[in-house]
Formats: sequence, structure tokens, C-alpha cells
Amino acid sequence: MATLNFAGSGQFFEFCSHKKIVIFPSRVHYALLNVFNDQKPREIAARVLRGRAAQTEFTEDLLEKALASARLSPADRGLCQELVYGVVRGQSALNWLIARKTPGREQPPDVQILLQLGLYQIFWLDRIPPHAAVNETVEMAKRNGLEPQAGFINAILRGYLREVVETRALLADLQATQPAIGYSHPEWLVAKWRQRWGPERTGKLLEWNNTPPRTYARLNRLKTDAVKLIEQWREEGVAYDFTKAGPWPENQVFELKAHPPLASLPSFQNGWFYLQDPSTLLAVTQLRPQPGDTVLDLCAAPGGKTTYMAQMMNNQGRLVAHDVTEDRLRLIRENCQRLGVTCVQPTMIPPASTGTPVFDRILVDAPCSNTGVMRRRVDLRWRIQPFEITRLRTTQLTLLDRAAALLKPGGFMVYSTCSLEPEENHELVAQFVSGHKNFQCLGEQALVPFQDGVDGAYVARLTRVA
Ligand code: SAM
Repeated sequence: MATLNFAGSGQFFEFCSHKKIVIFPSRVHYALLNVFNDQKPREIAARVLRGRAAQTEFTEDLLEKALASARLSPADRGLCQELVYGVVRGQSALNWLIARKTPGREQPPDVQILLQLGLYQIFWLDRIPPHAAVNETVEMAKRNGLEPQAGFINAILRGYLREVVETRALLADLQATQPAIGYSHPEWLVAKWRQRWGPERTGKLLEWNNTPPRTYARLNRLKTDAVKLIEQWREEGVAYDFTKAGPWPENQVFELKAHPPLASLPSFQNGWFYLQDPSTLLAVTQLRPQPGDTVLDLCAAPGGKTTYMAQMMNNQGRLVAHDVTEDRLRLIRENCQRLGVTCVQPTMIPPASTGTPVFDRILVDAPCSNTGVMRRRVDLRWRIQPFEITRLRTTQLTLLDRAAALLKPGGFMVYSTCSLEPEENHELVAQFVSGHKNFQCLGEQALVPFQDGVDGAYVARLTRVA
């Protein structure tokens, strides 16, 4: 059996809406001009993309900070996010388009970013008239100290406006002939996936990774029930859908179709639901914790699976939630508090393996390459390196070894990842079992996005026989 595990820390960004500020006449002070410019979604997107090029923070974090201090309407926030994520996801294809018109001439980063933003709007966004996309980009260049390059940017973008149909056809061909560029993924990863899945299914996976992720809410039965939650959502203006049947209980997870900023809703603040992809429930349903059990969640933060386990245990028993930093533990505490979870003991001290093992069930939701949740992590494809899978395997085996020593004979252990890679999943569990004769693998399950319609995940259910 296998899994899907989205780390549970899904990038769901919600922002309070504010009215747009009054526009000053131009040529006041530069500082005021900056304040004004910062209120434009394209300006903010460009700033985030420049920040991304310059430092080590995740794009999602940069965007969240930028939007937190901006005064944008919900629609403008949506546009800003779409521009940033779209340009990051699509950077190979966008750079290919730019290189076609500027052969052998590398552009300064600021110019490259504006060209990417303009081209993304022309070829990937339906709702912006292409001429408006060009005009806005050129004006933005002038406002941001790129007056000398504005004509060049205008010429490239207008050139493409005259070739929209042909260029769309070229982009479609590129997906077949050079998928790493056409779908904007690293070459090595595309080659690895094609070897395993072949071109057609790999194409589906690459396409999946380029689609915006859905938002799912898991009902928290410790606080409410499905009928009350739905009634409350009706009052709050939340549009939802039931999720199709899967390897998780029915009517536990809802897809949120439209909603006000979630953090502002009483149903969220009161802990009536937790945001997590349905695939993340599989590891817990395979572990099957019972009320009164002593359970260890070895890699617990931010607590998506911990809090679901606490619900299955009806808050009865002991659930030790371990993770490695105080910041990560804080997330577990916050989520437990909001969701009314009382049986969890968060800790940074790894449980000791001396003496008699005390745990009935252990979840090892290991740190992994996250290749099953690529559509939720826009930067991931550009950060991940082949050698990291080897490094992660060492950590994953160490964590399994540590957990093995803590499990009671007759107890159950689930190993899970949100990776699609066999090296971190089936092969790793096979290696573990061959080195631990007192463990048996009872089954494995894998969820694959393009087949199952949810994030990728792998789960192995193990038992200690002696
Ligand atoms: N189970 C979590 C949930 O459902 O919300 C997601 C866990 S995430 C996949 C992996 C976690 O492992 C991260 O929170 C990370 O901090 C933690 N981690 C990394 N190295 C670890 C280690 N050596 N021991 C324990 N946890 C570790």
C-alpha cells in the first residue's frame, strides 16, 4: 500500500480585504509614489519576483509578507498571487520565449522579470486583454527606473502580440518535443519520471503540477459535525463541494470552491475544520489509532495528522507529537488549541529508546522530497536536486530505526511521505524490513496525482511481530 502525504502545511494564503487607497497625483514625493506603486498587483508581483531572485526565502513567504502590508482588493490579491506563482512555475517556458527574440543576449534580471510578467499575461491568462498587459508592463518599466529599456520591452511584447496564434502552437509543440521546457520542470526530473511512467503519464503529472491547487477542509469532529459546519458555512458565504470517495472516510473532507478570507471566519477560528488535502488522511486511517492508545507522531508539525489522530482517539489516550524546532512545535500547539485537541504532548526531545517500548502505534511522516505536492510548492521544482533524495533516504531510515526501537511488540507503525519517488517509498521500506526481521510490512498504498486526483502520497503499514 502506499501513500500520499502532503506535509499538511499547505500553502493556503488568506488575506483580509481592504479598500484601495486614494491615488495621489504623480510627481509628489518618491516615497509616496512608492507607496502608491506598491498598491498595484503587478508592482507587488515584480517586487516579490525580484526578492526571490536575490535571496533564500520561499516565494510563498515573500508574497505573504508583501500582501500583508498591501491594500489590495481580493481580486487584485488574486491577480498578484497568480502572476507570481505563474511566472515561477512557468519560468523555463517564459525564458524560452524571451530567448527566441533576444538570441545570445542575456537580459538584466529586472528586465527579464518584466518580460516574464508581460508574456505570462499574454499567453497564460485569459482574463487580461493582451494589449493591456503590454501597456501595463511598459508603464511599470518606466516607473521603476527602466525607462531606457521600456522601448525594448515594448518591442518584444508587441512582437509576440502579432504572433499569438503561432506562438501558442509552438508552446503546445514544445510540451511534446521538449517537455522540461514546455511544462517548465527541471530536465533531470522529467527524464526520471519519463523513464518510470513513459511520456504520456509524465505529461499528465507535469500538467497537474502546473495547475493551481484546490483547497480542502477536513471536518473537526471534536468540535462539530458535518450538518452544523455546512449550516455555518452557508451563513459565512463559503461555497463547498463534497469530495469524491477515496481511501478516506466519507463526508470528512470538503473542497472549498469560494469563500471569504478563511482566517476571518468564525468556523475557522473556532476550529471546526482544518485545511488539508484528503491524501494526508491516508496515513492516519492506516495507522488506526484507538481511544486510550499511547501513540507517537515522530515528525508531527504542523499537526495535520496529529490532530486527525487525536480526533480518531476521541481525545483519549496519550499522543506524543515530536518535531525538531520550537517554531514547528508552536504550530502544533496553535492547531491543537484551535481544534480542541487535549491529548497531545508536543516535544522537541526525541523519546528515549531505553527500557521497555511504550508506544502502541507510531507514525513516521518523514521529511521527503515532496514531489507529490509540487503544485502546492511553487519553488520546489527549481530547488530540488537529485542528490537530495539520497540524503533524505539516510534521514528516513534513521527515523524508521528510531521508531522501531520505541514500538511495543504487536504494535503498528506507519511510514508515510508525500514523495512519488520509489527510493523514498517502497525501496526504503523494503530495505528497512530486510534489516529488521522483527518487522513485517502489512501493505503499501500510493496515491498518484494524475490517477487519483489528489496530492501524491505513499503509506506503508508495518507491525512489530516480536
Ligand atoms: N505530519 C505533519 C503533518 O501532517 O502536519 C507533516 C510532517 S512533514 C512531512 C515532516 C516534518 O518532519 C517536518 O515538520 C520537519 O520539521 C520534521 N523533521 C525533519 N527532520 C526531523 C527529524 N530528524 N526528526 C523528527 N522530525 C523531523
